[in-house]
Parts: sequence; C-alpha cells; structure tokens
Amino acid sequence: MRSDNGPKKRGRRFFLVQVSILLFVLFVVVLNAEQEGRIGIVDVELDASMVDLTLFVVAHELMHTLGASDKYDANGRTIVPDGLVEPDRTPLYPQRSAVVMARNRPVSASAEATPETLDELAVGSSTAKELGWLR
Ligand SMILES: [Zn+2]
Repeated sequence: MRSDNGPKKRGRRFFLVQVSILLFVLFVVVLNAEQEGRIGIVDVELDASMVDLTLFVVAHELMHTLGASDKYDANGRTIVPDGLVEPDRTPLYPQRSAVVMARNRPVSASAEATPETLDELAVGSSTAKELGWLR
C-alpha cells in the first residue's frame, strides 16, 4: 500500500483548478475615487476567447484605483493627445498600441480599432504621470 499522503499530514487541502473552455472568474474591483471609493464585485462567465478582454478591463479598473483617469470622451472616442501611446508619432495615425485607459487603438483621425490581445495595450505618458511613474 502506498502511503503518499503528505498534504494530509500537514492538515492542508489542495485544490486543483482546471481551466477549460469555460472559465469562471470572480474578481473584486475597487472603483476609483470618482465613484466614491465603493467596492464593486464582478462575477462573469466567459470562454477562453474573452480572457484578454477581461484582463484588459481588470487592468483598466485597477489603474483607476491607483489614480488614473479615463482617456476617452462621452462618445467612447480616444482623447487626443492624452489617450495616445505615441502622441508625437509622425504620421500620428495609425497608433501602434491602445492606451489601457482608452477603449480603442486610433487607426485614423476618425476610426478606432478594438484591441484583440493584451499585446496591443500600453500605458501612455499621461496615465504614467497620474500613476507617479513619470514626472
Ligand atoms: Zn474607466
């Protein structure tokens, strides 16, 4: 008889979390001061294709808790220049990345693309200053 019950001897239980097609995610987002510092609980059910989008939203909301402001206007359009990763790029468009505090990556003066992967996101200098990462 095999007596490999090490975890039991230490009184601990180990749980194996299996990630498959469906992911069940529970995360707590502490909303920013603009929303009076309330705590929001988000319970979502998603599939593997939505993981990057979910992490994008988590990063965006986390940065709010650290003092970052939105970089999009009331219509959801990126605010120029604060919502641009490369505000000094010539030509200005297309931007190569999307600011995490904006919603999209501007591809022209009148068009934006939704980021599809986390590789497309970046922190712009305006947000970096709000976070104290730049002076
Ligand atoms: Zn926001």
